[in-house]
Amino acid sequence: MNKNEIVEVTIEDMSDEGLGIGHAGGMALFVKDAVPGDTVLARVVKVKKRYAYARVQEVLSASCDRTDPLCPVARSCGGCQIQEMRYEAQLALKERKVRNNLMRIGGFHIDEDRHIIGEAEEHTDGGEGYFFPIIGMETPWRYRNKSQFPVAASADGRLTAGFYAGRTHSIIDHHQCMIGIEENRIVLETVLSWMDTYHVPAYREDTGKGMIRHVMTRAGYATGQLMVVIVAAGNRLPEEAALVKALQDALDRSGQERFHLTSVVLNINCERTNVILGSGTRVLYGYDYIEDRIGDLTYRISSKSFYQVNPVQTQKLYETALAYADLTGKENVWDLYCGTGTISLFLAQKAGKVTGVEVIPEAIRNAKKNAEINHIDNCEFIEGRAEDIVGNMEKADVIVVDPPRKGLDGSVVDAILRSAPDRIVYVSCDSATLARDVKLLAQGGYCLRKVQPVDMFPHTVHVETVCLLTHS
Ligand code: SAH
Repeated sequence: MNKNEIVEVTIEDMSDEGLGIGHAGGMALFVKDAVPGDTVLARVVKVKKRYAYARVQEVLSASCDRTDPLCPVARSCGGCQIQEMRYEAQLALKERKVRNNLMRIGGFHIDEDRHIIGEAEEHTDGGEGYFFPIIGMETPWRYRNKSQFPVAASADGRLTAGFYAGRTHSIIDHHQCMIGIEENRIVLETVLSWMDTYHVPAYREDTGKGMIRHVMTRAGYATGQLMVVIVAAGNRLPEEAALVKALQDALDRSGQERFHLTSVVLNINCERTNVILGSGTRVLYGYDYIEDRIGDLTYRISSKSFYQVNPVQTQKLYETALAYADLTGKENVWDLYCGTGTISLFLAQKAGKVTGVEVIPEAIRNAKKNAEINHIDNCEFIEGRAEDIVGNMEKADVIVVDPPRKGLDGSVVDAILRSAPDRIVYVSCDSATLARDVKLLAQGGYCLRKVQPVDMFPHTVHVETVCLLTHS
């Protein structure tokens, strides 16, 4: 098989990265934008020893799971991987991914009735667990509360904003991302027209000259508050007041009533770097934060704080975690990898005491502030690496963990087992490391009782999972 060759292939499966898998010429073929059940003509883009990568050239016969993507640029934009798959099929794919990892890596058996049986029966009481159907979104569009768009001038000098094409740094002009808020289009068009009017140049990555680098928006879905962040290589913009006024007028006029402008922030990034946000900020209008609510709690979000991007599903995720923690008001709870304390505060409403552990100092500051705003005084936040802290913590009744993709450090698993809590609630964004860690916890005497996948990122291949383990 050679590069640029066109091959006919029927797609049998999908990889964890969202590539269709088929076979041709004795090789496995990973085909971008193909859906299981499709027969396509694919152009080979890269050949390895036993497999090759290809892209869909033409769909000869479409899978019943195929659909037209809402975004006209779904193929060239790297943001979504599986927009050409019906949403129900996406959900089934994600559920299968979690299930397969728990079986292959975790060593659990999950039968057709969704019952989970641990492999190492001698380590468990034989009690069964249950694998719940994935929680999807009713309307899987416009769910992202945070968007960021690079800004540049094209070769002919025209200003563009949108997204980077593939793995390059060339920008495709596109203002209407269907998973972001509708206001993004108005914000982008207003910023570009302000740049045009006042001759404010776009930043140039090749020379490091110019000014405007990115436009970011953050929206509070429960409060309607909207923040616009202009990332620029400079600490002052020409005609700042005109920019603010233009944004206010355009959003007022737009007829979109969902979000109102409460904050315009200049983020200063003069470094030659791919990192979007710089360290300095200056408020051009309103506050340096927006507020949002999840359940009964209010969270204050600054331009740089971490906050879950899909608030609708986050609430379902946290409610599941809270239900699994099964708190009565007396328990001592650890929330490891607590970020800005969002889960900690959720749990604190029903716990005796919650201790959050998180490595990023700014997140800890946010967490303390969020506790204060919500008048929650039974939460403590410790800054540091979970693996360095857990050894010295007071024994827990319930331990919640929400680690990054690489999962739990071995020493954290050991410390959890030594603490011997009644319940462990594991929130995971990577079901492979989840399965690896749950296997270790099961070997340490815990039973996997409940598994609940939640679709936080429709049209991407990512899936979140909440698990409950109890002491056997
Ligand atoms: N539970 C939070 C955030 C989870 S994201 C929420 O729902 O909002 C995972 C968090 O783990 C990030 O905030 C990251 O900074 C933190 N983290 C990464 N490695 C860590 C470590 N070794 N120890 C403690 N925290 C860590």
